[in-house]
This record gives sequence, structure tokens and C-alpha cells, in this order.
Amino acid sequence: MSFDSLGLHAEILRAVLDSGYENPTPVQARAIPVVLSGRDVLAGAQTGTGKTAAFTLPMLNKLQPYANTSASPARHPVRALILTPTRELCDQVFESVNTYGKYLPLRATAVFGGVDMNPQIESLRKGSEIVVATPGRLLDHVQNKTINLSQVEMLVLDEADRMLDMGFILDIRRILGLLPARRQTLLFSATFAPEIKKLAEDFMQNPETIEVARRNATNESVTQCLHAAEPDKKRRVLAHLIRHHEMQQVIVFTRTKLMAERLARELKRDGFDCEAIHGDRTQQARLDTMAAFKEQKLRVLVATDVAARGLDINELPFVVNFELPTNPEDYVHRIGRTGRAGATGVAISLVGPDEDKSLSLIRRLTGKPLELTPVPGELRDGRGERERREAPQREYRESREPRAEREPRPPREGGRRSDILQVETPLVERRNGADQAALGGRVAGAIQHFHRAREVARELPALLLPPRYEIAKRER
Ligand code: AMP
Repeated sequence: MSFDSLGLHAEILRAVLDSGYENPTPVQARAIPVVLSGRDVLAGAQTGTGKTAAFTLPMLNKLQPYANTSASPARHPVRALILTPTRELCDQVFESVNTYGKYLPLRATAVFGGVDMNPQIESLRKGSEIVVATPGRLLDHVQNKTINLSQVEMLVLDEADRMLDMGFILDIRRILGLLPARRQTLLFSATFAPEIKKLAEDFMQNPETIEVARRNATNESVTQCLHAAEPDKKRRVLAHLIRHHEMQQVIVFTRTKLMAERLARELKRDGFDCEAIHGDRTQQARLDTMAAFKEQKLRVLVATDVAARGLDINELPFVVNFELPTNPEDYVHRIGRTGRAGATGVAISLVGPDEDKSLSLIRRLTGKPLELTPVPGELRDGRGERERREAPQREYRESREPRAEREPRPPREGGRRSDILQVETPLVERRNGADQAALGGRVAGAIQHFHRAREVARELPALLLPPRYEIAKRER
């Protein structure tokens, strides 16, 4: 099927062509004709399937007769309202509306919290056929009487399941009560939880149900890969994986804001261009960070679930779950950040021993075995990337060799500490049995090497010295 056969106006087709899309995605092919026919739609489409265009294109098509260049606000009442759970998604959908509607003189306004209300008020005052909003800020405008919803003909609830998860149900019901009863309602949700069905029953007229992906299915074009990792080793494993897979860009998910902030700080220290987005950062900082990531100025974006919801980054090949989400549906959403619109992607999860429960919930939801596999490649020692980069090559090489491999220096007079005492490959030695197995043959070889080196070292007199802390005490 081609876009031409969907019955869209020429201005919209031209914008679609400019976006480089050749054919509609399955959800677009199914939803666009139904929306154009005027029926309500209940669409089960996971993120990354092209769902934004699936509602935006027919919406623009239906608003096309209203397009006009008049300066009078009265000629631009709000006719379509799109509700999104997060500011990021709101901003992104707003961008899509502008992209697909660029050849139509229709106006759009984005209304979300965390930023100054005045520019939004100004834009709404001038008139706007399309408003993309988060529920809380929209209700602020309603309360301030800076928006009039009495002429809304189309309502879209985007990522409705997430809006309910985020506790917006009362806000949504309030907003629905403010809209004309005669309207078209489109509800898009990755999952059809019972509350979604209830919402549809209460507020939709005989909707056509469209389900393009298996319920709660993970995107088939995403390769899922899970590695066991102790919590205190995860950062090092992550840094290793970024290098090993030569990830040009990656989104890393954490469960909490605190962890997102801490991990971003540590990765920065390791020399990665990295920023975090989470609820405690200002809206402007979040938007700036997103822009930097999209422009590929950032290599690593650390994000919490809420902040990352709706992020649309083209051709993002990697997503890492630094911690598994407690809500298994978030796993589906997270890994949906990659493998978008038919591209392939890899989703890697680092699973700690305390995350068994989350893992089994995810396995149950996705219906996939999701076995733990060994970390590929050879984990390096714990030194930071920047430190290594900046260290002279010789020193770097030495730091990765067991010390006893090098020419042993004769022990100093008086039984003081010698180099040989420092025989150690810290990371390898400290790993427990299970971890060692996971590290594969190369690291196992390094461990053997280490033991051999230690045996050699044992024969040297320096090792007859008392343990290091005692030396330290004596030296004081
Ligand atoms: P969404 O599911 O709406 O977040 O869209 C995911 C990604 O798919 C976005 O980057 C869109 O630009 C892209 N996309 C949407 N429709 C198409 C299409 N028909 N062909 C190729 N890419 C598309």
C-alpha cells in the first residue's frame, strides 16, 4: 500500500514525502482510512510503530477545510486536542504536527508544564486549531480561561495507558467533560489494560479496534540481550559494553532520578559525553539535553522512565536497561526506543541479583524466555576512559598486565614494599564464580595467568613481608 491510496490531501502527501517515508506503516495503513471515515478508533500500537502520523495525518486532513491565513483569532478556534502523558511526548507530537502540516495554514500550540505559561497564553489568544497538551497544564489554562474547548471536534489520547499509570485519570475525565459530546475520539495505547477499556466504553462511540502488534508484545526487530551484573559492577560493565559494541549513541534507563543523576556523573568522569534527563531537571534543561542528543552531540543519554516516555530518536540502535523497571510494561516502552519504524535495534539489560522479580514479570508479559547471557568481550579494569585515554600508552599497557609479568625489581633494602607485592588484576580476582563464567574464555585465561604470576611471585622474598596495611602502619 502507498500513501497515495489513502486519500490524503496533496499538501499532506507532500510533507510525508519530504519526511522520506515511502509507505505507510501497518498502524497507519489501518488507522488512517478509519479516522478519515469519522469513526472513533481504539488503537493498540506500541511506540515506534508510526502511531503519531497514524493520527496526525488524518487529523490534518480533516482540518484542511478550516485552514486559513486570517489574522483573526475567531477564525482559529481549537478544533483538535491531543493529550499526551509527558512534556517530552507533547513537544514531540507538536513537532510532528508542524512537520506534517507545514504546507497547510493551520496553527498549533503545545501546552505543557514546567515552562512559562505566558507564551502559551499568547499563542492560544491568537488562535490555534490544534492544541497538543499534557493534562495538568491544560487544566491550568482552563482554570485561567485562557483556552476555549467548546469547538473541539477531535480528541486524541496518546499513550493513554501511561496517562493512567501516571495518575491522570481524574484530569482526563474532567477534560473529557469539558468537550462537546459530538466529537471523534481516538485512543492510542501500547496496552489494553481493563482501565483503558473502561475509558473507551465511557467516552467513545462504537470505536473500531485496531491492533497492529501483539498485545504487550515487544518490537520484533529489537534483539534483546540480558547480562547478569552485580549492582556495584554495573557501571563498569556498561562502559565496557558501550566501547565493545562501539555504540555511537545509547539511551540508558535507570529506575530513579537519583541513580540517573549519579550514573551520568560517573559516566562523564569516565570520559563519555553524557547527560541525564529526569523529573528533577528543569523543563528547559530537559529540552536542551534532548536537542543535544538528537544532534548527536551527546553519546549517552541517561533517563528515567517518565522523562524518556515518547522520546523519538531516529535510528537509535542501542538501549540499555541499567536497572530493570519494576513495572514490566515500562520494559516494552523502554526497548521501543530502538528498532523504530522497521529499523533493527539492540536492547541490553543489566540484571542484578535483586532483580529476579522484575525479570520474571517481564518474561511473563513479553512471553519470551529472555535468558541471561555472558557479557561479550573482555572487561577492562576499573579505570576511567578519560584517565586511560590521557595516560601515556606505556603506563596504560602496564596497568592492564599482571605486575609480576614485568621485570621484577629487586626488593628494597630493609624489607620495604616492593612492586611484586602489587601482583593483582583487581577486577578479575574480585569477581565471584558466577561472574567468572559469564566473562568467557579470554578472561578465564587472564585469571589463570594471574595465578601463575602469583606463584612466581611467591618465591620471591618480597612476599615474605607482612601484609600491606601493617607496612602502612609502620611507615606512619
Ligand atoms: P512513532 O511511533 O509515532 O513514535 O514513530 C516512530 C518513528 O517512525 C518516527 O521517527 C517517525 O518519523 C517514523 N515514521 C513514521 N511513519 C513512518 C513511515 N511511514 N515510514 C518510515 N518511518 C516512519
